[in-house]
Amino acid sequence: MNIVLLGAPGSGKGTQGALLTERTGLPKISTGDLLRSAVARQTPLGQKARSFMDQGLLVPDAIIVGLIEEVLASDDVVRGVIMDGFPRTVRQAEAVDRSLALRGARVDHVLYIDVPEEELVQRMIGRSHIEGRSDDTPEAIRKRFAVFWKQTAPLVAFYRKKKLLREVPGTGSIEAIAQRIGSVVES
Ligand code: AMP
Repeated sequence: MNIVLLGAPGSGKGTQGALLTERTGLPKISTGDLLRSAVARQTPLGQKARSFMDQGLLVPDAIIVGLIEEVLASDDVVRGVIMDGFPRTVRQAEAVDRSLALRGARVDHVLYIDVPEEELVQRMIGRSHIEGRSDDTPEAIRKRFAVFWKQTAPLVAFYRKKKLLREVPGTGSIEAIAQRIGSVVES
């Protein structure tokens, strides 16, 4: 089963993805984690990605599409995968479809974790104190929201049209949200 987690910055994709991994046994892959690790190790990918990430901009599709193809061709995801933080553009979504089709698979569920914007901003500010991510500065946070609405939110319509979109209210306790997600995936 291949699951896409879609949501604005701070919507809880990472947290819920980890819980969904426990529940389903499927691996969760986060392009954000892969990129942060590449930056830390100063690999060629990391060197190309770093300044975009620090500014809160998307790393260009020309770079990410290759990463997606590599991830989805790996033996680790033969039973399925939980995609956290990708696809983030329509072009990336098309790359996901192509890569899965190569192994006779498809996107089975898209979970859109829907959280009101005021609450998102509060969560992000809280997180910047705890995690100390270099892209959790107020300017980068603002930029990442703008980027989300402009470049990623169109995926809601993209997947709705394919009848794959499941909207999950992302407010309330972590457990309550996990419960909602679990029932969608198991339905
Ligand atoms: P995340 O941890 O998913 O919030 O990602 C952190 C940053 O990594 C983003 O603000 C982007 O700069 C970059 N990034 C992660 N995933 C992608 C993606 N699928 N496409 C483009 N940029 C990405």
